[in-house]
Amino acid sequence: MKLTKLVRLGKSDLFVNPIGLGTNAVGGHNLYPNLDDETGKELVRTALNHGINFLDTAFIYGPKRSEELIGEVLKERNRSEAVVATKGSHKFVGNQVVHDNSPAFLKQEVENSLKRLQTDYIDLYYIHFPDQDTPKDEAVGALKQLKDEGKIRAIGVSNFSIDQLKEANKDGYVDVYQGEYNLLNRSAEKELLPYTAKHNISFIPYFPLVSGLLAGKYTKDTVFNDLRAKNPHFQGEAFVRNLEKVNQLRPIAEAKNTEVAHVVLAWYLTRDSIDALIPGAKKPEQVLSNLKTLEVQLTQEEIDEIDRLFS
Ligand code: NAP
Repeated sequence: MKLTKLVRLGKSDLFVNPIGLGTNAVGGHNLYPNLDDETGKELVRTALNHGINFLDTAFIYGPKRSEELIGEVLKERNRSEAVVATKGSHKFVGNQVVHDNSPAFLKQEVENSLKRLQTDYIDLYYIHFPDQDTPKDEAVGALKQLKDEGKIRAIGVSNFSIDQLKEANKDGYVDVYQGEYNLLNRSAEKELLPYTAKHNISFIPYFPLVSGLLAGKYTKDTVFNDLRAKNPHFQGEAFVRNLEKVNQLRPIAEAKNTEVAHVVLAWYLTRDSIDALIPGAKKPEQVLSNLKTLEVQLTQEEIDEIDRLFS
């Protein structure tokens, strides 16, 4: 195993490899129907075998199945090898899914996640999406109690607006924020990234590769039959334009003898408060490939050029 410098997440006592693993495809049959459970577990094992200790899952991936599969892999190994982040807020009401951030619901969801993960602590627990009613400092207050009880080690929120984040962090308890941020959606740069940088909150960007689009391997003829079939980035002219933009990264990758995906991931790590990344994968070789990001050194000129290409 190659030794990697670990980074600290926010003010927490969690230390992770800056390249983690997003697991919405691991058991995430509601999102990616074609990935079988055994391959999913192999992705997680490959990550842990190569020093990728930061695993990102959620109740809703599956639902439940992603956490269950990760739990099975954790059982095979020493629990301290992994820093497991999971999330909750989705509640099934009949056929409908709503979000609930009430303290009672979050506490119950943490108990449920602990069982599925077959562990007695969760390293990082996020409120996955905001609800409309619960004051966000009360929701985070419930997580603080769970932290004091040792059931979770760090507190996260995800998909919160800047105002919701400020309310959530009224008492300074938020360690990590997770939100969509990538070269095609840089809206977090306006308020969220400056806020997290100022308050020592790690910002974990999701969809770092725009579900594979920024990895530089799709063509306009690639057909998607999963979650991506409805994603606007993958539709018609927008898809073609996005592919053209990605092509502009090729010379930078080629000059460094690396791949476009690694250049993209390395660029995020140059942003203030983006301490770690959670690219997803569907093949073990993608997990290993993404680790090569850590070997990419971008010059200031290259950082600025990528900034300009995707401004
Ligand atoms: P992503 O990281 O942007 O893209 C991952 C996909 O890119 C892979 O499944 C694979 O797809 C392709 N890929 C990955 N590495 C590659 C490589 N080295 N070379 C070529 N292709 C590569 O998208 P994501 O997995 O949806 O998002 C990342 C994680 O963020 C999720 O797993 C999840 O944990 C989290 N997330 C959180 C939220 C939230 O609301 N908080 C929302 C979405 C996601 P193909 O093999 O199909 O090309």
